[in-house]
Amino acid sequence: MIDALLDPAVATAAAAVLGLLVGSFLNVVIHRLPKMLERGWAQQCAELRGEEAVSEPAYNLVVPRSACPSCGHRIGALENVPVLSWLALRGRCRGCGARIPARYPIVELTAGVLAAAAIWRFGPTWQGLGACVLLWALVALTFIDADTQLLPDDITLPLLWAGLAANLFGLFVPLADAVIGAIAGYVSLWTVYWAFKLIRGKEGMGYGDFKLLAALGAWLGWKVLPGIVLISSAVGAIVGIALIVFRRHDRAVPLPYGPYLAAAGAIALFAGPSLARLYLP
Ligand SMILES: [Zn+2]
Repeated sequence: MIDALLDPAVATAAAAVLGLLVGSFLNVVIHRLPKMLERGWAQQCAELRGEEAVSEPAYNLVVPRSACPSCGHRIGALENVPVLSWLALRGRCRGCGARIPARYPIVELTAGVLAAAAIWRFGPTWQGLGACVLLWALVALTFIDADTQLLPDDITLPLLWAGLAANLFGLFVPLADAVIGAIAGYVSLWTVYWAFKLIRGKEGMGYGDFKLLAALGAWLGWKVLPGIVLISSAVGAIVGIALIVFRRHDRAVPLPYGPYLAAAGAIALFAGPSLARLYLP
């Protein structure tokens, strides 16, 4: 069994299946984590105002069980098979026929494909596993930021620590590169943020973006940071302009930067040192 998993093709296929299952969990995180944070903040505000705490039914990543938002139909195990269930149900709830958004299977598929690519590239190794963890976190952050303009600390900070811990063993870069990467990632965007705020008098991005770039620096080292910033701002600018031109997006409404940072981080993970070689001697 273990021997078979060392075969690249078998390991890649196993990673794809594991990725689909993790993707199913990521859907829960993407949907519930922002709501859990909002509840926590509302509760803190109530406490500060000296109001009695209202006891609400538990709501976390495990409880309550997944149900259809239109009819409350409980989603059974057979309806929860990644991608296949959605296809079999033709994207509709079994109870009431309400549409199930295509993004659920899309998140699952993305998590599966990325995991397969990571294991194919890095092999069934600790490095491969680390790459999977980083990519899955980036998928969750991308969708949460797109939905809510938030990059929760509950994901970015553990991701940063995990990157430093991984490189304690030199998984991707020497530890010194990782530590400098974490600091430089945070400070560089923090500087841009304040420069932008002082000059233009508005905020171009949020603190979550600094923490995400710090996490990417911790995983991939400081050398790829210029590449990540360049790719993410170029793609972000192109998409932003396209949205303003074609969909008449109000330019006063800030676009989330996290998804572009996350995508550029994934590219940097796979491109690795060859990305840094484009601009470093
Ligand atoms: Zn329903």
